[in-house]
Amino acid sequence: MSDYNFFDQVNEAFDLAAEYSEYDEGLLVQIKNCNNVYHITFPLERDDDSIEVIHGWRVEHSHHKLPTKGGIRFSTTVNEDETMALAALMTYKCAVVDVPFGGAKGGIKIDKSRFSDAEIERITRRYTYELIKKDFLGPGSDVPAPDYGTGAREMGWILDTYRQLKSDLNAEACVTGKPIPQGGVRGRTEATGRGVFFGIREACRNKEDMEELGLKHGLEGKTFVIQGLGNVGYYAAKYMIEGGAKMIGVAEIEGSIYDSDGIDLDKLVQYRKENDTILGFEDTKELESNTTVLEAECDILIPAALENQINDGNASNIQAKIIAEAANGPTTADAHETLKEKGVLIIPDSYLNAGGVTVSYFEWLKNLSHVRFGRMEKRFEESSYRKILNVIENISDRTFTEEEMGRLAQGADEYDLVDSGLEETMINAYNDLNKLRKEHDIDLRTAAFLSAINKVGTMYDQMGIFP
Ligand code: NAD
Repeated sequence: MSDYNFFDQVNEAFDLAAEYSEYDEGLLVQIKNCNNVYHITFPLERDDDSIEVIHGWRVEHSHHKLPTKGGIRFSTTVNEDETMALAALMTYKCAVVDVPFGGAKGGIKIDKSRFSDAEIERITRRYTYELIKKDFLGPGSDVPAPDYGTGAREMGWILDTYRQLKSDLNAEACVTGKPIPQGGVRGRTEATGRGVFFGIREACRNKEDMEELGLKHGLEGKTFVIQGLGNVGYYAAKYMIEGGAKMIGVAEIEGSIYDSDGIDLDKLVQYRKENDTILGFEDTKELESNTTVLEAECDILIPAALENQINDGNASNIQAKIIAEAANGPTTADAHETLKEKGVLIIPDSYLNAGGVTVSYFEWLKNLSHVRFGRMEKRFEESSYRKILNVIENISDRTFTEEEMGRLAQGADEYDLVDSGLEETMINAYNDLNKLRKEHDIDLRTAAFLSAINKVGTMYDQMGIFP
């Protein structure tokens, strides 16, 4: 799909929404453009002593708020256009969920399977060094996070490299998605998938909207198909199933499978670990290609792998009533139009996968405050609740068992607080967007862009233009 220009597509969606905003053309162009685009090349000395040149990018899309924030991707598809588009989406995403950051994105163009762990570490550390040299990394300037092909391990290397080169009291806040002992926050690993679940659940709670789609409201009993069982896909599927939905189709690199009776997620993940494939799992039906299942009959389709997966080649065959964009940019602009005409509800990426950046924001706050969430108040809350329960016992003839006391008088720990903050964020943002959608008779993607344009535009209005 290399003929798609991803950044142009993001801007097309932006322009559609901008028509409903009140800002003049010059400011809209400023909001749309990438403020800094950095293309890095550096040599890697491979384990066999040969030298290979590595290409990497970091794009800071908008400095209307600092730091800028966005993941780092390791993939063969990484290029400047993709990084610019993803950085722009980060600006809009942060604005939609009221996370006070500008957008950024980074990427290294590599096929990870060709490199040893030691080589990946050298690539990550050298890339980090190059970012630091140009002030593209720091708690107050630009704060990366994991994305496709990276995780806590890489974020740990980034922090360590930063710490070796900078004496900064707030060093831990230079990157998020870190392992917990290095300042990571509980709940970050699952945050994006958890946010996807909160978002879909909120959409399904709306009786009127579900009736329009010919669906019952609530998540219970809804069927879904998911593409990609990586970090985002796995957790989204896990919480969807826990929430009462049924997973009936899965697409992975090697192919796609379907079973209308439901697929056991954890057994499937274990099966893939052992066999390196999802194909042949239990009673599932193996489909023709790794995208065939996207066209299967289901209520909700969750693309959670890569961009441009729903395009003009398959959009008209898609049977799902709801497309829940867990991945970034999974639906092309023309496919979006086709699906809209079919009456499909598309919950856009810029809102739906914002759980990751929301919890990254919490992690950054934790790092700046140098204290774990809940550490100061958990015990205090517990003893206050116990006092209340004791009063209830004294004025009634009810005595609580120790188990009940423990449960009712539980203070919030870090995971509880992070999860609650995430749930609050996803619920509020969905209802804001849905309101905007109905007010202007637009789709949710346009509503998300419009919400972001209004918020970023307000910042420029109030800040003015320097100098
Ligand atoms: P990941 O590397 O953990 O997982 C990606 C999964 O997709 C892997 O299981 C991979 O095998 C699978 N996959 C790759 N190509 C495929 C194909 N052609 N068909 C089917 N499956 C395929 O990555 P991730 O972090 O889960 O990211 C997935 C998407 O979510 C990306 O678009 C990313 O930008 C977006 N996202 C991630 C986060 C985050 O916190 N990780 C946050 C926001 C958005």
